[in-house]
Formats: sequence, C-alpha cells, structure tokens
Amino acid sequence: MDESLSERYGAFLSERRAALLSMIADACARAGRDPQEVDLLAVSKTVGPDEVALAIAAGQRLFGENRPQELSRKLAALRASGQADMVRFDMIGNLQKNKINQVLGNVELIHSVSSLHLAQAIAKRAEARGIVAKVLIEVNVSGEESKSGFDPAELRSQVDEVLGLGGLQVEGLMTMAPAHDASEARRTFSGLRNLADELRVRTGMPLSVLSCGMSDDFQIAVEEGSTLVRLGRIVFDEHYPLD
Ligand SMILES: *Cc1c(COP(=O)(O)O)cnc(C)c1O
Repeated sequence: MDESLSERYGAFLSERRAALLSMIADACARAGRDPQEVDLLAVSKTVGPDEVALAIAAGQRLFGENRPQELSRKLAALRASGQADMVRFDMIGNLQKNKINQVLGNVELIHSVSSLHLAQAIAKRAEARGIVAKVLIEVNVSGEESKSGFDPAELRSQVDEVLGLGGLQVEGLMTMAPAHDASEARRTFSGLRNLADELRVRTGMPLSVLSCGMSDDFQIAVEEGSTLVRLGRIVFDEHYPLD
C-alpha cells in the first residue's frame, strides 16, 4: 500500500474502532451490561495482511477468518513481521474435515462446530496432537435452510455427547441471524441466549461465550447478551455507513 494511502486508511480504522467500541458500550448501557463482557472480533477475510497490520496499529487484537488457507496466509505474514504474538485469530467459518489440522493450534477458538460429526473429527485430531481445542457450538436458531449449525432440538439431544468428547472444550454457542430483519435478528439472538441458559442448567458447564452479531445487527446482539461480535465490513470498509 502507498504510504499516504495507508496513513489515511490507518486513521479510518482507528476512528472506526473507537466509534464501534462506543456503540457497543451504548448497547451494553441499554441492556444494563458491562461493556467488558463484549469482545470485538474483526473479521479480516476481505482484507490483506497490510490492512490487518494497520488494524493492529489501531489497537485491534482479535481477528477472525473463515477460510483455513487465508488464515495460514495472514499468520505467515504476521509471523514474518513479528506481530503474530500480539494477536489472536479465531476460525469463524465452515470447517471441512480435511482442513482441521491446518487450523488446530493456529487459532484460539473455533466458532463453527456445526455438527456432531465435525465435533468428533476435531476432537479426534486434537487428541492425537495432545491438545484441547476450544470451540463454540454453532446453532441454527432461526431455522433458515441456508444456515448451518445444530438445530436446537438436535443440540438438546446431542449436547452430552459433544461435551463428553475428549480433546474438545466447549466454551459456548454461536449463531448467525437472518439478514435485513431486525426483529428476526433479535429473536435469533435471544433464542441463542435462552438455549445457552437452558444448557448451562442441564449440563453444569459455564458456556460463557455467545458469539453473535455482525455488521448489520451487532447492537441488537449486544442488547440480547452477545459476548463476542464478529464485525467485518463495518470495521474495514470505508463505504459501510455507521448508521
Ligand atoms: C463474514 C462473516 C462475518 C462478518 O460479516 P459482516 O457482515 O461483514 O460484519 C461474521 N461472521 C461470519 C461467520 C462471517 O463469515
């Protein structure tokens, strides 16, 4: 990136980050929550390593990628520039079984465990490497056909099996809301929170992470209990409006 361009884009990233943190704090205030409970994950899938480096300079430390290959590329660039230890990457997208090994050990948290089969496959590979993979269970709360994840009823019947897998530590739940419908989004996020409450009581596990809320709906998600919003366009795209 050209120097003046990168200076300008860096300034945009840091102003945008400040604005987003204050929007998150406002949503927390409306819901009587502590803003410390909510992490902002920057979804870097549409930008390159240079933009990630500028986001780091702007104070961002938590990033998400949805493709193992792109994750590896970003990490390689950050290792080369000595910045890899400053940041945390999570895997947020669909994970194919043959890509699990590429991701394990390179991310803090896998958000997208969308089936018992995938949970078993991750657990098996983690155990073989003597590590414990931290994961979230992805739930299709809204029931849209296009969405992946456990159906809530299916999760109720399989949760004990997932939690019993060695090599896997389930930290909470993740969901995606239907696009362009604020009331459906709210229902989806409150549904995720209620499901987590129910599963906590039943399993005795903390399930403390609720990963939900994207550029279009994160304020609703925070009002409904999200502890981790995954923001892409609104972080990196200068044309994405704040309101
Ligand atoms: C791309 C993506 C996001 C970010 O979406 P935006 O609307 O750009 O904020 C969040 N979560 C997942 C799983 C994604 O793939």
